[in-house]
Amino acid sequence: MITWNLHAHTTTSDGDLSAEELVQRAVDEGLSGIAITDHFPFPYEPDQPVDWATSRRVFERHLRVVEALQHKVDGLEILKGAEVEYVPSLDTLAHWLRGLDLDFVMGGVHILDGWVVDWSEEIFCQGRKRFGGWRTAIECYYDAVGELAESGLVDSIAHLDVVKKYNPQSRFFDEDAPWYRRAVEHCLERIARTGVAIEVNTAGLRRPAADLYPSDWILRRARELEIPVTVGTDFHRTHDRVSDGLSVAEAALRAAGYESFLIFRARQAETLSFSVPSQDRAWA
Ligand SMILES: [Zn+2]
Ligand SMILES: [Zn+2]
Repeated sequence: MITWNLHAHTTTSDGDLSAEELVQRAVDEGLSGIAITDHFPFPYEPDQPVDWATSRRVFERHLRVVEALQHKVDGLEILKGAEVEYVPSLDTLAHWLRGLDLDFVMGGVHILDGWVVDWSEEIFCQGRKRFGGWRTAIECYYDAVGELAESGLVDSIAHLDVVKKYNPQSRFFDEDAPWYRRAVEHCLERIARTGVAIEVNTAGLRRPAADLYPSDWILRRARELEIPVTVGTDFHRTHDRVSDGLSVAEAALRAAGYESFLIFRARQAETLSFSVPSQDRAWA
């Protein structure tokens, strides 16, 4: 059973709960481990206002709070993580990450040339015009994901196919179209060559897409390419569960042929099998 969640946000970025409240929830829900992965950093301005990122100064203070919780809580392993943004100059991202003592760095493409991919349906739809068609917009997205994986800066790719968030029943672009499948395939091949993991993210189940990120066929292909996975719920909201959808993620992983997932300590991967029992938990 998967009792780890490697993707959760706090009030340091755009989550509802403080780190302490989040950790208490994770304990209450019986998790064995959690990575706290607030958005960081945000060194340039998108065209639309976003409110999910934080400054390096605030983030460093947040890490000290997380470290204090690591010492305070028994039975729940707490990892210091970050969900970092794709920025056009990846040197900038490297600069911002330098000197941060993190266990786990997840990379996600949310913004592309000022276009915010997953903010709202209205803004998502602007991508078509901005890039001269859905195909170009989506291909640019997957190119950026491949670049992020190849940068060597991240351990896992967050919500690989988040571009489908507002695309249920292929409303805007056809996810079965050969060009879309090729874009995903090419991206997966790039990721496979790097050794970087991809994330199975359960947030899509709670979004219009009503599906895991990534889709089953992508997960099967990732398995064939021997791409390892991390698992996360992308927790933000008080009304959600920190462990939301972990059993769905596990079922999808098993169906795709996976038997294990990765966690990271001090940026080093450890493989955990689904059958690893949870530890005893206590709130000190
Ligand atoms: Zn994200
Ligand atoms: Zn997130």
